Amino acid sequence: MIPYGKQDITEVDIDAVVEVLRSDFITQGPAVPRFEQAVAARVQAKHAVAVNSATSALHIACLALGLGREDRLWTVPNTFVASANCGRYCGADVDFVDIDPLTWNMSLPRLREKLRQARRDGRLPKVLVPVHFAGQPTEQEEIRELAEEYGFRVLEDASHAIGADRNGEPVGSCRWSDITVFSFHPVKIITTGEGGMALTNDDDLARRMALLRTHGITRDTDLLQASAPAPWYYEQQMLGFNYRMTDIQAALGFSQLTRLDAYITRRNALAERYNESLQDLPLELPTVLSGNRSAYHLYVVRLKQDMINKTHRQVFEDLRSQGIGVNLHYMPVHLQPYYRKLGFTEGSYPEAERHGQEAITLPLYPGLTEHDQNLVVKALQEALSGE
Ligand SMILES: *Cc1c(COP(=O)(O)O)cnc(C)c1O
Repeated sequence: MIPYGKQDITEVDIDAVVEVLRSDFITQGPAVPRFEQAVAARVQAKHAVAVNSATSALHIACLALGLGREDRLWTVPNTFVASANCGRYCGADVDFVDIDPLTWNMSLPRLREKLRQARRDGRLPKVLVPVHFAGQPTEQEEIRELAEEYGFRVLEDASHAIGADRNGEPVGSCRWSDITVFSFHPVKIITTGEGGMALTNDDDLARRMALLRTHGITRDTDLLQASAPAPWYYEQQMLGFNYRMTDIQAALGFSQLTRLDAYITRRNALAERYNESLQDLPLELPTVLSGNRSAYHLYVVRLKQDMINKTHRQVFEDLRSQGIGVNLHYMPVHLQPYYRKLGFTEGSYPEAERHGQEAITLPLYPGLTEHDQNLVVKALQEALSGE
């Protein structure tokens, strides 16, 4: 089976991990801040807080932004459930903004419409979570203007998009947002096994997220309330968690980061090859907005169903039976049983629902050979040809 995504681990990565295993610290040592500083420098953000997953990063980001029971968080339905769940962890109401039919990211017209309505109803969101779907940057400048007009905070879920940029501005710089989150799960652009990171330019948000990551505890004499503390002394200043990343993971991430540019170049080259090979098939291909460089975490196509004699499921199953590990990104989050129980129903977000009925994710990862990519194209041609 050719998988839809796969990590790339080199001997240099393995050596970096082994070096930490032989050192004094396998957690809470120097590898974590070194990795944080390297990612912050790469994406031009002031602060980075490494954690054990992007899900944890989203959680502490929401808490640092003050999201609570009386509040609302909005995201898109075309995402992984974690983008919405972080709001629920804080007791907030979650709601969704439909996606754009071209970029498959959050629709700006739908967002504007929903904000106007919410202002009339007194139900504006506290936190908006745009998702850089498949690695394509969202329109953060426009979202920032709306954030100022309507008074909400912006938390970018860039789990797909480390290494992407928009008009030369790296995703993660937080120039137009409060916090940006990356994931280092093995299918993502770079990996730490499990892991995530929250980036921000705001000193106070960075301090709060660092506290929340580690039980709300600090030993930093600048932050302690006690004066002249004893050598054993620490303070728990808020209710936090153990969301720490280990030094073993950070060493792997640091080593992977040195290949980020090569990964993005390779992913874009493979995407370009798909674009050329698939242009005559009854498919909608990904549209990358001008000024955007996608990280191409995923290569997603949509079936033009009026031109095909098979269902979405049949095409999907044909490809799987040919050894092509296609996937679906995403089943709309609001139609998950958990969210239906909260009152969401079919028909609320038609574009995201249509996406979920037409989208197929094709294999794309740095180690995908052109030979294997040709097999994917051939299998797709056959699957769409009728029999
Ligand atoms: C993978 C992913 C997450 C969660 O990442 P983890 O590191 O696995 O917690 C969140 N949001 C999106 C959009 C993702 O793709």
